[in-house]
Amino acid sequence: MSSSSDLVSGRVAGPLSSAQPRLDHLGIAVHSLGESIPFYRQLGLQLSGCEEIPHEHVRVAMFQVGESRIELLEPTAADSAVGRFLARRGPGLHHVALRVTGLEALRDRLVKGEVRLVGGKIQKGAGGHRYLFVHPESAGGVLLELVEAK
Ligand code: ZN
Repeated sequence: MSSSSDLVSGRVAGPLSSAQPRLDHLGIAVHSLGESIPFYRQLGLQLSGCEEIPHEHVRVAMFQVGESRIELLEPTAADSAVGRFLARRGPGLHHVALRVTGLEALRDRLVKGEVRLVGGKIQKGAGGHRYLFVHPESAGGVLLELVEAK
């Protein structure tokens, strides 16, 4: 274990964060929130809110799962990131989101470590939190969202 974490910390300058990142949510792309929400309700999950995020062209529904969440994403435009994902691959796991602290400093360290970011600009999302995406190329084939609470 220590050798692999040494490898990781050697790639970026210094530790990623003083606080441990936590799993914030899993993002799942769906064609329709209306058709997908009942299944997750059937599992006994509580719908904690629905919100439209115009600049991402998505409507999202959040379910609380312990300390983490499941985020269903329905595109509001075919020519959006989630719309294109659905057209290419169909519904499924779209991204994994980690809750972090010190997002700006973390971004700067990742950029220095030549981690590939999507855009690289920190944006504002559902519930007013700030986020940034790491490209799947740098994250083991998974689109990785880094989220910081406001
Ligand atoms: Zn997300």
